[in-house]
Amino acid sequence: SRREGFSTIPNVKWEDIGGLDSLWKEFHRYIVRRIKYPEEYEEFGVDLETGFLLYGPPGCGKTLIAKAVANEAGANFIHIKGPELLNKYVGESELAVRTIFGRARTCSPCILFFDEVDALTTTRGKEGGWVVERLLNQLLIELDGADQRRGVFVIGATNRPEVMDPAVLRPGRFGKLLYVPLPSPDERGLILKALGRKKPIDPDVDLMAIGRKDACENLSGADLAAVMDEAAMAALEEKQVSCQMNEDAVDALEKKQGSGPGSSDAK
Ligand code: ATP
Repeated sequence: SRREGFSTIPNVKWEDIGGLDSLWKEFHRYIVRRIKYPEEYEEFGVDLETGFLLYGPPGCGKTLIAKAVANEAGANFIHIKGPELLNKYVGESELAVRTIFGRARTCSPCILFFDEVDALTTTRGKEGGWVVERLLNQLLIELDGADQRRGVFVIGATNRPEVMDPAVLRPGRFGKLLYVPLPSPDERGLILKALGRKKPIDPDVDLMAIGRKDACENLSGADLAAVMDEAAMAALEEKQVSCQMNEDAVDALEKKQGSGPGSSDAK
């Protein structure tokens, strides 16, 4: 989108997210409250981590919760996609990194979100060669300049934490590691309810019960969103007044994906 790399306050709310309660509490303590009540933290001399790494399987809400944190704090949000940063500005990616952090400081309080951050930090000397190496060095310089980064919080997201250069995971950089797992059966129900807030779901449909079904095993939040969209589209095509979410919808997704639930993980 045209807003790529620019700041806005996202419109994702906590109600839009199913599950992830403990993660939300952590972010509340580490980011939201610090942005809202900076004087308190100053008075108590609290100097906490400002860099976070969300890791876990795709489609489980990493981007969503980062946006909701910004919304809750009333902070700006800058969304950077790792691979794009690397490819779009070949030869200039160091400058791009500097520009991005500069922009984040200008619009602080701000959450700087690096999606697929592993692309920028893959262990040096491998794959990307000197381009990654120089970009990574610049990134470390910016991350280490936390003193000049007041009000800027950095959140990285990755499905492959194991390929990341350990240097970026040190305290003061992406220092706090937070796991975002596949949802449990009950959390799947909560995700369906969150997603269903924006759709005319038949009031007789028990979304919590659907979430607990075996057919939903190993589905991510993104898979569940696809199931619900399929069901909504079917209802619309059949000119029904509301959406019947049932096992048929889950079956339909399985058929479409060919290899059953969870296969979207292998994309
Ligand atoms: P990736 O690693 O692929 O970038 P991600 O973990 O960042 O994935 P999101 O982009 O946050 O995943 O989620 C993709 C979509 O899946 C969301 O826009 C939303 O529709 C749905 N979704 C995923 N997790 C949740 C959740 N916990 N609650 C509600 N919706 C969710």
